[in-house]
Amino acid sequence: MKHLPRECENILVQVWSAHEKGDKSLGRLFLAHPHAVPVVDELLRAGLLERLDGEIWLTERGAKAARELVRRNRLAEVLLQQILEVQPERVAVNACAWEHVLSAEVTDTICTFLGHPRHCPHGNTIPPGPCCAKSSRTVTPLVQPLTTLPVGGTARITFIAPRVSRRLDRLAALGVVPGTKLVLKQKSPAYVIRADQTDIAIEEDVAKDIFVREIKAEEEGG
Ligand SMILES: [Zn+2]
Ligand SMILES: [Zn+2]
Repeated sequence: MKHLPRECENILVQVWSAHEKGDKSLGRLFLAHPHAVPVVDELLRAGLLERLDGEIWLTERGAKAARELVRRNRLAEVLLQQILEVQPERVAVNACAWEHVLSAEVTDTICTFLGHPRHCPHGNTIPPGPCCAKSSRTVTPLVQPLTTLPVGGTARITFIAPRVSRRLDRLAALGVVPGTKLVLKQKSPAYVIRADQTDIAIEEDVAKDIFVREIKAEEEGG
Protein backbone atom coordinates (compact mmCIF):
# COMPACT_ATOMS: atom_id res chain seq x y z
CA MET A 1 0.00 0.00 0.00
CA LYS A 2 1.35 3.45 -0.88
CA HIS A 3 2.13 5.83 1.92
CA LEU A 4 -0.70 8.09 3.08
CA PRO A 5 -0.15 11.70 4.09
CA ARG A 6 1.61 11.80 7.44
CA GLU A 7 -1.28 13.32 9.38
CA CYS A 8 -3.50 10.45 8.18
CA GLU A 9 -0.97 7.86 9.24
CA ASN A 10 -0.57 9.54 12.63
CA ILE A 11 -4.30 9.31 13.33
CA LEU A 12 -4.39 5.65 12.29
CA VAL A 13 -1.53 4.92 14.70
CA GLN A 14 -3.17 6.83 17.52
CA VAL A 15 -6.48 5.02 17.10
CA TRP A 16 -4.70 1.64 16.85
CA SER A 17 -2.55 2.33 19.95
CA ALA A 18 -5.56 3.49 21.96
CA HIS A 19 -7.46 0.32 21.02
CA GLU A 20 -4.39 -1.72 21.98
CA LYS A 21 -4.63 -0.21 25.46
CA GLY A 22 -8.36 -0.93 25.56
CA ASP A 23 -9.36 2.71 25.13
CA LYS A 24 -12.06 2.89 22.46
CA SER A 25 -13.05 6.49 23.04
CA LEU A 26 -10.34 8.18 21.00
CA GLY A 27 -12.46 8.22 17.83
CA ARG A 28 -15.05 10.44 19.50
CA LEU A 29 -12.26 12.77 20.57
CA PHE A 30 -11.02 13.14 16.99
CA LEU A 31 -14.52 13.86 15.78
CA ALA A 32 -14.64 16.83 18.12
CA HIS A 33 -11.16 18.10 17.29
CA PRO A 34 -11.24 20.74 14.53
CA HIS A 35 -7.76 19.87 13.21
CA ALA A 36 -8.55 16.18 13.05
CA VAL A 37 -11.91 16.43 11.28
CA PRO A 38 -10.63 16.85 7.68
CA VAL A 39 -8.06 14.07 8.21
CA VAL A 40 -10.65 11.73 9.69
CA ASP A 41 -12.92 12.53 6.73
CA GLU A 42 -10.15 11.59 4.34
CA LEU A 43 -9.58 8.30 6.18
CA LEU A 44 -13.31 7.56 6.14
CA ARG A 45 -13.38 8.20 2.38
CA ALA A 46 -10.32 5.98 1.89
CA GLY A 47 -12.08 3.16 3.73
CA LEU A 48 -9.47 3.00 6.51
CA LEU A 49 -11.78 4.27 9.23
CA GLU A 50 -15.50 3.75 9.62
CA ARG A 51 -18.14 5.47 11.70
CA LEU A 52 -20.33 3.28 13.90
CA ASP A 53 -22.64 4.45 16.68
CA GLY A 54 -20.98 7.86 16.87
CA GLU A 55 -17.53 6.26 17.24
CA ILE A 56 -14.60 5.96 14.88
CA TRP A 57 -13.25 2.47 14.22
CA LEU A 58 -10.46 1.11 12.12
CA THR A 59 -11.64 -0.97 9.19
CA GLU A 60 -9.77 -4.20 8.50
CA ARG A 61 -7.60 -2.38 5.96
CA GLY A 62 -7.08 0.52 8.35
CA ALA A 63 -6.02 -1.80 11.15
CA LYS A 64 -3.56 -3.55 8.84
CA ALA A 65 -2.00 -0.25 7.76
CA ALA A 66 -1.81 1.00 11.36
CA ARG A 67 -0.22 -2.24 12.55
CA GLU A 68 2.54 -1.88 9.93
CA LEU A 69 3.18 1.70 11.02
CA VAL A 70 3.34 0.70 14.69
CA ARG A 71 5.70 -2.15 13.83
CA ARG A 72 8.07 0.20 11.95
CA ASN A 73 7.93 2.74 14.76
CA ARG A 74 8.77 0.24 17.51
CA LEU A 75 11.51 -1.47 15.52
CA ALA A 76 13.02 1.95 14.83
CA GLU A 77 12.93 2.62 18.59
CA VAL A 78 14.91 -0.55 19.30
CA LEU A 79 17.44 0.22 16.59
CA LEU A 80 17.88 3.84 17.62
CA GLN A 81 18.01 3.31 21.36
CA GLN A 82 19.74 -0.03 21.80
CA ILE A 83 22.10 -0.18 18.85
CA LEU A 84 22.73 3.42 17.81
CA GLU A 85 22.43 4.71 21.39
CA VAL A 86 20.43 7.77 20.44
CA GLN A 87 19.41 9.63 23.60
CA PRO A 88 15.99 8.40 24.82
CA GLU A 89 14.45 11.88 24.44
CA ARG A 90 15.49 11.95 20.76
CA VAL A 91 14.31 8.41 20.02
CA ALA A 92 10.57 9.14 19.78
CA VAL A 93 10.83 11.95 17.26
CA ASN A 94 13.18 9.96 15.05
CA ALA A 95 11.17 6.73 15.27
CA CYS A 96 8.05 8.69 14.33
CA ALA A 97 9.78 9.99 11.22
CA TRP A 98 11.02 6.53 10.25
CA GLU A 99 7.63 4.89 10.60
CA HIS A 100 6.46 6.85 7.54
CA VAL A 101 9.33 6.08 5.20
CA LEU A 102 10.64 2.55 5.75
CA SER A 103 9.68 0.05 3.06
CA ALA A 104 8.40 -3.40 4.02
CA GLU A 105 11.66 -4.90 2.80
CA VAL A 106 13.89 -2.63 4.88
CA THR A 107 11.62 -3.12 7.89
CA ASP A 108 12.11 -6.89 7.72
CA THR A 109 15.86 -6.43 7.29
CA ILE A 110 16.00 -4.26 10.42
CA CYS A 111 13.84 -6.78 12.31
CA THR A 112 16.16 -9.64 11.31
CA PHE A 113 19.24 -7.57 12.12
CA LEU A 114 17.85 -6.96 15.62
CA GLY A 115 16.98 -10.63 16.13
CA HIS A 116 13.18 -10.18 15.76
CA PRO A 117 12.65 -8.31 19.04
CA ARG A 118 9.25 -8.78 20.69
CA HIS A 119 9.14 -5.50 22.61
CA CYS A 120 10.12 -1.88 22.11
CA PRO A 121 12.19 -0.08 24.78
CA HIS A 122 8.90 0.98 26.44
CA GLY A 123 7.77 -2.62 26.80
CA ASN A 124 5.09 -2.37 24.11
CA THR A 125 4.61 -5.41 21.88
CA ILE A 126 6.09 -5.15 18.40
CA PRO A 127 3.59 -6.62 15.94
CA PRO A 128 5.47 -9.48 14.25
CA GLY A 129 6.11 -9.47 10.49
CA PRO A 130 6.67 -12.20 7.89
CA CYS A 131 10.40 -12.40 8.81
CA CYS A 132 9.57 -13.24 12.44
CA ALA A 133 7.40 -16.23 11.50
CA LYS A 134 10.10 -17.63 9.20
CA SER A 135 12.79 -17.51 11.82
CA SER A 136 10.76 -18.47 14.87
CA ARG A 137 13.13 -21.37 15.49
CA THR A 138 16.37 -19.41 15.18
CA VAL A 139 16.60 -16.79 17.87
CA THR A 140 20.21 -15.84 17.12
CA PRO A 141 20.37 -12.32 15.76
CA LEU A 142 22.13 -11.84 12.44
CA VAL A 143 24.55 -9.52 14.15
CA GLN A 144 25.84 -10.17 17.66
CA PRO A 145 28.40 -8.72 20.03
CA LEU A 146 31.83 -10.31 19.78
CA THR A 147 31.36 -11.56 23.35
CA THR A 148 28.63 -14.03 22.30
CA LEU A 149 30.67 -15.53 19.45
CA PRO A 150 31.95 -18.99 20.40
CA VAL A 151 35.70 -19.43 20.84
CA GLY A 152 37.08 -20.59 17.49
CA GLY A 153 34.24 -18.87 15.66
CA THR A 154 34.88 -16.89 12.50
CA ALA A 155 33.04 -13.62 11.92
CA ARG A 156 33.11 -10.38 10.04
CA ILE A 157 32.85 -7.04 11.87
CA THR A 158 29.61 -5.30 10.99
CA PHE A 159 29.97 -2.20 13.11
CA ILE A 160 31.56 -0.87 16.26
CA ALA A 161 29.24 0.87 18.74
CA PRO A 162 29.79 4.60 19.08
CA ARG A 163 30.51 4.43 22.79
CA VAL A 164 33.96 3.02 22.09
CA SER A 165 34.70 5.67 19.47
CA ARG A 166 37.54 7.10 21.54
CA ARG A 167 39.20 3.74 21.11
CA LEU A 168 38.35 3.39 17.43
CA ASP A 169 41.63 4.92 16.35
CA ARG A 170 43.65 2.35 18.24
CA LEU A 171 41.47 -0.46 16.91
CA ALA A 172 41.64 0.93 13.37
CA ALA A 173 45.42 1.08 13.57
CA LEU A 174 45.35 -2.64 14.38
CA GLY A 175 43.04 -3.35 11.44
CA VAL A 176 39.93 -3.82 13.59
CA VAL A 177 37.43 -1.99 11.38
CA PRO A 178 34.02 -2.87 9.93
CA GLY A 179 34.45 -5.48 7.20
CA THR A 180 37.43 -7.16 8.88
CA LYS A 181 37.23 -10.95 9.09
CA LEU A 182 38.38 -12.37 12.39
CA VAL A 183 38.67 -15.56 14.40
CA LEU A 184 37.97 -15.42 18.14
CA LYS A 185 40.92 -17.22 19.72
CA GLN A 186 40.04 -16.93 23.41
CA LYS A 187 37.76 -15.14 25.85
CA SER A 188 39.74 -15.26 29.06
CA PRO A 189 41.74 -13.89 30.73
CA ALA A 190 41.33 -11.38 27.86
CA TYR A 191 39.65 -11.47 24.49
CA VAL A 192 42.07 -12.32 21.72
CA ILE A 193 41.12 -12.12 18.08
CA ARG A 194 43.17 -13.03 15.07
CA ALA A 195 42.70 -10.65 12.17
CA ASP A 196 44.92 -10.68 9.12
CA GLN A 197 47.33 -13.13 10.82
CA THR A 198 47.85 -10.87 13.81
CA ASP A 199 46.67 -11.69 17.32
CA ILE A 200 45.07 -8.70 19.03
CA ALA A 201 44.04 -8.56 22.71
CA ILE A 202 40.88 -6.63 23.48
CA GLU A 203 39.28 -5.70 26.82
CA GLU A 204 35.88 -7.23 27.47
CA ASP A 205 34.05 -3.89 27.57
CA VAL A 206 35.41 -3.14 24.10
CA ALA A 207 34.57 -6.64 22.82
CA LYS A 208 30.95 -6.08 23.91
CA ASP A 209 30.71 -3.13 21.56
CA ILE A 210 32.18 -4.81 18.50
CA PHE A 211 29.26 -6.29 16.56
CA VAL A 212 29.98 -9.16 14.21
CA ARG A 213 28.18 -11.42 11.82
CA GLU A 214 29.23 -15.02 12.31
CA ILE A 215 30.48 -16.85 9.24
CA LYS A 216 29.55 -20.53 9.48
CA ALA A 217 31.90 -23.11 7.96
CA GLU A 218 29.44 -23.96 5.17
CA GLU A 219 29.31 -20.32 4.03
CA GLU A 220 33.06 -20.01 3.70
CA GLY A 221 33.52 -22.05 0.53
CA GLY A 222 34.14 -19.14 -1.88
ZN1 LIG B 1 8.11 2.17 22.35
ZN1 LIG C 1 11.16 -10.31 12.30
